[in-house]
Amino acid sequence: MYECPNCGGNLKFDITSQQLACSFCDTHMRPYDVDKETDAVETDYFETTVFTCPQCGGEIFSGDNEAASFCSFCGASTILSSRISKEKRPQYIIPFKKTKEDCKKAYEKKMRFAFFVPDELKDAKHIESFRGIYMPYWTYQLSQNQHVTLNGKKSHRSGDYVITEHYHLTGDLNALYLGYSKDASANFYDNLSETLAPFDAKELVKFTPSYLSGFYADTADVEEDVYLEEVMGLAEENSFERICKEPKFKGYDVDSGKNKNNLRSKLGTVCRTTDRTMYPVWFLSYRNKDRVAYAAVNGQTGKVAVDLPIDMKKYMFTSLILAVIIFVLLNLFLTIKPTTLMMIGCLLALGSAALYAKELNDIYKKEHFIDDLGMQEKIADEESLYEEGNDKKKKNKKTFSVKDFLKKHWITMIWFMVVFGQLGIMFLYAMVVLVWPLILTGTVICGVIGIKKCKKTGDIRKTPGFIVSMIMVGIAVVIRLINPVSDSYYYLGAVLALVAVLFNMMDVISNYNRLVMRRLPQFDRKGGDDRA
Ligand SMILES: [Zn+2]
Ligand SMILES: [Zn+2]
Repeated sequence: MYECPNCGGNLKFDITSQQLACSFCDTHMRPYDVDKETDAVETDYFETTVFTCPQCGGEIFSGDNEAASFCSFCGASTILSSRISKEKRPQYIIPFKKTKEDCKKAYEKKMRFAFFVPDELKDAKHIESFRGIYMPYWTYQLSQNQHVTLNGKKSHRSGDYVITEHYHLTGDLNALYLGYSKDASANFYDNLSETLAPFDAKELVKFTPSYLSGFYADTADVEEDVYLEEVMGLAEENSFERICKEPKFKGYDVDSGKNKNNLRSKLGTVCRTTDRTMYPVWFLSYRNKDRVAYAAVNGQTGKVAVDLPIDMKKYMFTSLILAVIIFVLLNLFLTIKPTTLMMIGCLLALGSAALYAKELNDIYKKEHFIDDLGMQEKIADEESLYEEGNDKKKKNKKTFSVKDFLKKHWITMIWFMVVFGQLGIMFLYAMVVLVWPLILTGTVICGVIGIKKCKKTGDIRKTPGFIVSMIMVGIAVVIRLINPVSDSYYYLGAVLALVAVLFNMMDVISNYNRLVMRRLPQFDRKGGDDRA
């Protein structure tokens, strides 16, 4: 706690004046002027109050020791236990620029068009629990100072010949990258921090503990080298692009040497320093049974990132009304043959089954943190104790990029296109005959993949969507094969297909909240946990 020298009251950081302010006598002071003796000493650590959530084990620390009455990680409203502890001292901080009022306004604006969210998310009392938390980041300083030689090509046509000239393009590269930052807290999801980005590193100021007064901060638990590769790669791509845009190199086809190691040695990228920094984030959590949804507002720019769960009742009601309107309109303006109607129904069933299979895949990816480097590192550390490399190899596998694939395989692709073009024409003829078997095959494939994913993801026991659509589409195909005279069979087939759609969509929605909300965090895991 920082005491007011005038009246002894509690000094807190005031965003509007960017100074420490006393709420009793209106004294204002520079944060650097109130340092306690222990703060002023240049050590790697500083003293702070650490708050621990009894439910999830999540920890945040603060400059004050006032009781905290809820947990920002799991959303539990409970008194957090507190203790005095030492934390690693950051070098720099961006103090909050947006006040809580600014943050609430930005959030409300974002939520204005979110019709299907539970009412509580828009409730004034809930919004009041936005909490100012400093998030730990690694901020990298990279430089490239080197005489650079790149290969360039220039081609022109002369009669029947194409003449290619090869050049060495040389120059001195002097680049300094200051602001690359990556979140250093495994608790802070990468996808949230990426939506909140960018922070403007120009506003970083020297850290002193009194900046935290009146706010909280999250601890850094991701090592600095986790993101180093990625950040260096970004700097290299950026420099390379700029070099190519250099007016003197215009018209040359510059070859980077294709692989990244090559570019690195050519540009001479070096990481000069890595600083511990703190970035301001307004944070809100919403808990619903065993799920939690987060909203976060960038405390410097006011940018909003928010998980939007769906209120099932609201959604179903609106969809029903829309469906009735569309059905009435269709009937007024179009007459559809019963066979076509049944086919449309089956295609919809196939589409909804595919949608559901994709959703399950996304859930699997999200819950195993496939895209979250920081979190993966943390899990890998925990798992490496009792798990052999096999599974880890899978995790480290690079994600597939269409762009890279096309670059590498464009000749093969063209060859395939020609062949497939011809096949395609034959295929179109065949389609007329094959459409039904294809729909059936598609549905079965989606169903089998989906049911597998259901099992893999765990605790999703809802599979009726897939099974119902396989059965219903099967019946429709049988109807089509028998080719009865009476229209009523086709209408029956169409209705059955739509029932399948309904089942699939119910599964999709009930799992949707699982996709946008997050599992309750568990921080003090020791050894075997449910992720293993
Ligand atoms: Zn005072
Ligand atoms: Zn908690």
